[in-house]
Amino acid sequence: MKALIIGAGIGGMSAAASLKQQGIECEVFEAVKVMKPVGAAISVWSNGVKCMNHLGMGYIMDKLGGPMLSMAYLEAKTGTVMTQFSLSPLIDAVGERPCPVSRADLQSMMIDDWGREKVQFGKRIERVEQDESSVTAYFTDGTSATGDFMIAADGANSAVRETVIGKKIERRYAGYVNWNGLIEVDESIAPKQQWTIFVAEGKRVSVMPIADNRFYFFLDVPLPLGLPEDRETLRNDLKGYFEGWVEPVQTLIEKLDPMTTNRIEIHDVEPIDTFVKGRIALLGDSAHPTTPDIGQGGGSAMEDSVALGMAFSETKDIETALAAYESMRHERATDLVLKARKRCDVIHAKDPAATETWYQELKEETGENIIEGLKQTIVNGPLG
Ligand code: FAD
Repeated sequence: MKALIIGAGIGGMSAAASLKQQGIECEVFEAVKVMKPVGAAISVWSNGVKCMNHLGMGYIMDKLGGPMLSMAYLEAKTGTVMTQFSLSPLIDAVGERPCPVSRADLQSMMIDDWGREKVQFGKRIERVEQDESSVTAYFTDGTSATGDFMIAADGANSAVRETVIGKKIERRYAGYVNWNGLIEVDESIAPKQQWTIFVAEGKRVSVMPIADNRFYFFLDVPLPLGLPEDRETLRNDLKGYFEGWVEPVQTLIEKLDPMTTNRIEIHDVEPIDTFVKGRIALLGDSAHPTTPDIGQGGGSAMEDSVALGMAFSETKDIETALAAYESMRHERATDLVLKARKRCDVIHAKDPAATETWYQELKEETGENIIEGLKQTIVNGPLG
C-alpha cells in the first residue's frame, strides 16, 4: 500500500512517520525547493510532545525544547507583575513538558528523521484525481504520481482542499499583525526560563526560551489588513506601536534584527465540515488552519498524524481508515480552532471591555485557572 503525502511541513512529516509505523510506504512531495518556515519558532505543548514521542521523534523535542519552567503576565506600561507561576503543576498533571522550539530546526530535523533524500522537493500539486482504487497527484512541472491514497498536508492555502470539500473557502483575517523572531537570551528583557508576556491596549509582547540560549519573541498589534511591509522602517514602526511600554520591551525592539524578523497578518478559516473524501484526507493546516493564540496548530497536526496511525492500526481498508481518522479528529480540531479564535479576540481587544475584564482577571490569577485551561486543552488529545 502506498500513500502520497503532499507537503513536508510538521503535518506531512509527522504523517509520514505515523504511516511508516503501520508499515505503509509513503512518497513525500514538497512544493518548495528550500524550506522557508513562516515563523521563527513554535511552542509544542505537551500534547504535541506526546505525539512526537509516540512517533519516535521525542529526541527532537529533547534537543530543541527550551527550558520553559514558569509563566508570567506583566502590565506593559508599568511592568507590574499581574501573575507569575510555575508550570510544574501542569507538567505533573499531564505527564509531559511543553517544548518551545525553533521552527526551522524542528522542520529540518523532522525531514532528516524521515530521510531528506526521500523527499521530492520542487513538486507543487495543482490537481488531484481519484477512482475506486487509486489517487493521482498532478504537479505544476507537468509530472504526476499515483498511490493508493493521499494525505494532503499542504498547509493553510491547500491546493487539495477544494477537491475534498467541494468549494473554495476564503481565509478570515483575525485582525492583528504578528512580528516574530529569535534573539539571544537577555535577562534584562525577561528571566531566561520563563514565558513572559507583556499586555496592554489589546497588544502583546512575548518572549519564550528555546534551546541554545535563545528567546523566541513575538509582538502582536491589532491593525488593518494590507499595510505595507518595510524592513527599513520596522524598528521605528514597532517603537511607535509600543511607545510608553516598559524598558524590557524597548530593549527587545532595539535588539531584534529587522532583516530576520517575520511579519505575519494572522488568518484562520471557518471550520470545514469534512476532512476526507474517499481516498484523500486533509491533515494539519490544510484541514483546520487556526490563529496561533493557543499555540496549538502544530500540535493539532501532530495529533492528526497519531490518529491517522491509530486508524490504520485497526484496518487496512483505506476508506474505512480515513473515515475513522476524520471521526477521531473533526470535533477536536474544530474545537481548538474556535478556542484559539475566542482567545484571539480577547487578547486583541475585539471588544475592549472584554479585554479589560481579562486584564483584571490576570491580576487575580494564581496560575490555577490558566493551568487548568492548558491542561484541558492538552488532555483532550489522542494520547490523553
Ligand atoms: P505548513 O507548516 O504550512 O506546511 C505545509 C507544507 O506544504 C509547506 O512546506 C508548503 O511549502 C507545502 N505546500 C504548500 N502548498 C503545496 C502544494 N501545492 N504542493 C506541495 N506542497 C505544498 N503551532 C503550534 O503548535 N504552536 C505555536 O506556538 C504556534 N505558533 C504559531 C505562530 C505563528 C505566527 C503562526 C503563523 C503559526 C503558529 N502555529 C503554532 C501554527 C503552526 O505553525 C501550523 O499549524 C503548522 O505549521 C501546520 O503544519 P502543516 O504541516 O499542516 O502546514
